[in-house]
Amino acid sequence: MPENKSERLAALADQCVQCGLCLPVCPTYALDGNEAESPRGRIAIAAALAKGQVPVTDDLREPLDHCLGCLSCERVCPAQVRFGELLVETRALLGPAPRRPRVLLALATRPAWLRAARRLAGWIGLSRRQAWLAGRLPERSAWGAALSLAATPLPSTPSGFSAVSREAPTLAPVALFPGCVGSVDDEDAQQAATVLLEAAGHPVIRLPAFCCGALDAHGGRTAAAARAMQRVRNAVQASGASMLVTVTPGCLGQLRAALPGVRVSDPYALLADRAGELGFRPLRQRVALHLPCTQLNVARSGEALQTLLARVPELEIVPLPPRCCGAAGSHLLEFPERAAALRVPTLEAIDTLAPQALLSSNIGCRLHLAAGLAERGKAVPTLHPLVLLAQQLVSGSPP
Ligand code: SF4
Ligand code: SF4
Repeated sequence: MPENKSERLAALADQCVQCGLCLPVCPTYALDGNEAESPRGRIAIAAALAKGQVPVTDDLREPLDHCLGCLSCERVCPAQVRFGELLVETRALLGPAPRRPRVLLALATRPAWLRAARRLAGWIGLSRRQAWLAGRLPERSAWGAALSLAATPLPSTPSGFSAVSREAPTLAPVALFPGCVGSVDDEDAQQAATVLLEAAGHPVIRLPAFCCGALDAHGGRTAAAARAMQRVRNAVQASGASMLVTVTPGCLGQLRAALPGVRVSDPYALLADRAGELGFRPLRQRVALHLPCTQLNVARSGEALQTLLARVPELEIVPLPPRCCGAAGSHLLEFPERAAALRVPTLEAIDTLAPQALLSSNIGCRLHLAAGLAERGKAVPTLHPLVLLAQQLVSGSPP
């Protein structure tokens, strides 16, 4: 691989044979119907910029900034173009996007600050004042989008989960990476992962909460992303664990890049391997299952999750069509109007299926969908699939 940034990017772009097979799976191409907003168009723009054939203009930069990083294109590409790498290299070359909401991202990536902001929102009754505050902010602005996310209540499990006693053999310990937003807004899922993995025989070592650097890497802040990756390496090394898990599939790509040679996954594959050890009490409910793009295209754990959910007696699982909901890391703050438009088909599918609950593994997707459901006046509880599994877990031998 060439050393120079531009040469590296040009080499990645030159792998594309321009067949167009990726166009039908690209959500932004479906939204805009415009070649520049497709994977092939973005690769052509990146190649021209890297080779110095065109100057960086707003018109050329915008389609690159709009990319969701969903990697649906990478999954279907016959030439195996490494689109995720190409996107990170392109953004590193261009630097942070002009619409990047720096203050909001600084808040989101610092768990102590985010926790304090959540507490403050509770004290001032933000959900009651949302409409008044929203009327004072520009429509579909980053702060407006953040307000709608902050005012959307997520269901919580007040008393936590009970650890189950089981005569499972002791397997290799795993380190649990809590992340930044996930460590605050998905605390239930962190606890659920611990209870389930320990029931399956894996001792869990919880790492300190900090950002993996994915938002920086995807936002062109290369040095900050490199610092976060070093912090991940130090924390895993100090834990002594040989495997790392995260309940947030959006962190997986960055964690894998930080830890070559270490098994990094979400918990579903480990749990599905031990599914015979886990027993669940029945739940007579119809739940819609949303599979985030990173779970489909990076973790590739959709099947393992469905295997686990199928072990809950009487639970009816209705999968939602696999399409990006528009959250996509910081995209929902940078381009709220596009994120809202991309969310519509998923919200309509939820309306049609009329589930009693919505499951999704990514905290960003879940907050974005929950805010959309609230806007439509729909009261559908949204939760992490691990939370449902941990709530139904029973002690003793599985039936
Ligand atoms: S499928 Fe792959 S090779 Fe074909 S246009 Fe898309 S990125 Fe290029
Ligand atoms: S990552 Fe997703 S949004 Fe970006 S070009 Fe590929 S398919 Fe389209």
